Amino acid sequence: MNITIVGLSAGGLSCLKTLLKYSRDLRITAITNEERLYSRCLLTYLLGKELDENDINIAEVSDLKNTEIIFKRTVKSINREKRTITLDNNREIPYDKLVLAVGSDPLRPTYCKEENNVFTLRYLKDAHNIDKKLKDSVIVVGGGYVGIKSAYGFYKRKVRTTMIVTSPYPLSVTADEETGRIVEKELIKMGVDLRLKSDVIEVVKKNGSVNVILRDGTELISDVLVVGKGVKPNINLAKSAGLECQNGILVNDFLQTSDENIYAIGDCAESSDIVRKEKNINAIWPTAEEQ
Ligand SMILES: Cc1cc2nc3c(=O)[nH]c(=O)nc-3n(C[C@H](O)[C@H](O)[C@H](O)COP(=O)(O)OP(=O)(O)OC[C@H]3O[C@@H](n4cnc5c(N)ncnc54)[C@H](O)[C@@H]3O)c2cc1C
Repeated sequence: MNITIVGLSAGGLSCLKTLLKYSRDLRITAITNEERLYSRCLLTYLLGKELDENDINIAEVSDLKNTEIIFKRTVKSINREKRTITLDNNREIPYDKLVLAVGSDPLRPTYCKEENNVFTLRYLKDAHNIDKKLKDSVIVVGGGYVGIKSAYGFYKRKVRTTMIVTSPYPLSVTADEETGRIVEKELIKMGVDLRLKSDVIEVVKKNGSVNVILRDGTELISDVLVVGKGVKPNINLAKSAGLECQNGILVNDFLQTSDENIYAIGDCAESSDIVRKEKNINAIWPTAEEQ
């Protein structure tokens, strides 16, 4: 049986390892458009100089039996009738079962332009780009996990950090107020200039720095702006193939999409949430890995 996996991060890699462990007689092809396998969760420690690039490796995938790993290629389309996928070099790969582990991408407010030193942090190349521009000050926009972990990294790097959070306390989307207030205190203890109930209205690049105008008219200046305002699941590939999608790719309790031969896992999959008792996306590493 041919199994093809698209995306090789938390979800795709865990799927690959599980198949190799429990199943014989499989021919597996796994494709990622990135250059290497690393932990996204550790990117903020890389930025904070607590870890180097070798420390964030998550797997060695050379010489795996009956398995082909393809790096730096994007899957452009799925042909469900022929059961093939096509890569960006026009190579066609057949599948009997296809696993979409294509993750999510950061939400990018309109002011988010790399040429203005405004970055999101999702991929290793983002960490490199931020690293190149960062000297001694940074503004972090967003009080979720990525924002908080970024602020911690910059604190470790001894960079002057300002944090802009729209809500009255950090982590307001995923935690209650009591927890959020504990995080708030810790951020302040770390020396972060925390601006709650605040938002960015305009960003202008001036003399190599970023000038940021807040809703109350305050103007801030820093080397770079890092935006962590949430993620959107990568559903375009699935949608173009006619698979049912809402916020994410809809899957049943066996993680099958509306096509029984195609599965979706991780940040891109909208699955049953047994706590909320509705379809939901829990965009965290352990969920992707377990699925
Ligand atoms: C900075 C940061 C810190 C985080 N910290 C934590 C944390 O502390 N704890 C936690 O639980 N979670 C954390 N997360 C979230 C966690 O990283 C994600 O939930 C997890 O990576 C999701 O895994 P995934 O396999 O579903 O998708 P992803 O990790 O997004 O991987 C999808 C992969 O598929 C590739 N891909 C997409 N489309 C295609 C295509 N068409 N062809 C080929 N390849 C494709 C992508 O390039 C990517 O490599 C963090 C995220 C970030 C960005």
